[in-house]
Amino acid sequence: MEDNTLISQRHERVETGLLRRINERRLFETLQRHGPASRADLTRLTGLTAPTVSKAVESLLARGLAEEIEPIAHALGRPGKLVRPATESAVVLGVVIDVSSCSVTATGLDGRVSEPLTQRFATPGTYAALLDATEHSCRNLVDQTNRQIQGIGISVPGLINDRLGEIVFSPNLHLLDKRNPAVDLAERIGCKCLLMQETDALCLGERLHGAARGLDDFSLLDVEAGLGLGVMSAGRLLAGHSGMAGELGHITVAPDGPRCGCGNRGCLETLATDAALVRLLSQAAERPLSVAEAEQLLAERAADFQHEIRTVTEHLAIAIAAVINIFNPTALFVHGRLLVGNPERFERVLDRVKQRTLTASLADCAIHATRSSKRQGAVAGIIHQLTSACAPTLG
Ligand SMILES: [Zn+2]
Repeated sequence: MEDNTLISQRHERVETGLLRRINERRLFETLQRHGPASRADLTRLTGLTAPTVSKAVESLLARGLAEEIEPIAHALGRPGKLVRPATESAVVLGVVIDVSSCSVTATGLDGRVSEPLTQRFATPGTYAALLDATEHSCRNLVDQTNRQIQGIGISVPGLINDRLGEIVFSPNLHLLDKRNPAVDLAERIGCKCLLMQETDALCLGERLHGAARGLDDFSLLDVEAGLGLGVMSAGRLLAGHSGMAGELGHITVAPDGPRCGCGNRGCLETLATDAALVRLLSQAAERPLSVAEAEQLLAERAADFQHEIRTVTEHLAIAIAAVINIFNPTALFVHGRLLVGNPERFERVLDRVKQRTLTASLADCAIHATRSSKRQGAVAGIIHQLTSACAPTLG
């Protein structure tokens, strides 16, 4: 009997602790969405009781996740202090490692990225040089802000195996194979570092800053260098057994097609991406082009490259249709530059999508170009991690 009483008391304590964390998380999300709010505002916005709000706010303040600011003077007496996500008092860093360039950006826990607090460098040729350059930018930015560092989110291309805790394979950036820059950077800098697949990070960025705000079922297709897919289903990112789900880019669409970074031939990502269009334009122009040069060429002489544009448009439409047919999302966000970033060309892609998608599934789904960036994604990822440490999402 005594044992049962003890278990039940312990159970109650765990439940109370969990409930408190859930309330803190809910409050933090309200602050993210709403901006600075008084305790009275928060009581109204969350429907929690005033003592619960007060306790949760105190805990967020104590943990450095939120801060207080003076309200703007007001005709109706003296309003209470306002609470907001820690902006002046804390900093998080978002590191984007990409095929040809990298960036490090510093923000508060509001996740707002800015140019003055972003540093960029060309992706170095070795992993050791990549770590050195990243550490250097991180230290520079922390010194510049002179704030308490809460954590670093690192967005990388490739397959991350959560069980092994490493990037097992990065088809377009092999220096990351079998590496974990989050572990290595945490050792050098001494703070919490989070490794994220870049498309998952983009999903979180779009949810925090873009048009996916408040959506629990949406997909995101990144078609820049590789073709990555992130799927938010019932409020959770689809992970699979080891976190490697969603590799739509490596399904074969042309058995004898171009060689892919994964070693296979004719993968969807060799035909449906910005990188694919750059490769085709380089062949047509008989010189290697960068993405910026390809963009320039399309701006000046698109009529000369209709065949190349049509080839990639057709395959991008197939990729988009596959996602909609398989996952039935309420919205699909597409992240890209050459076709997606140009309204007229994106319109043509969407026209082809109609041809390729099941009508009922397409009727359910809105398709947008993304509004957020990989920088915002890396930052949103670490903020999500810091606040998830409050409590898991209920769902
Ligand atoms: Zn492949």
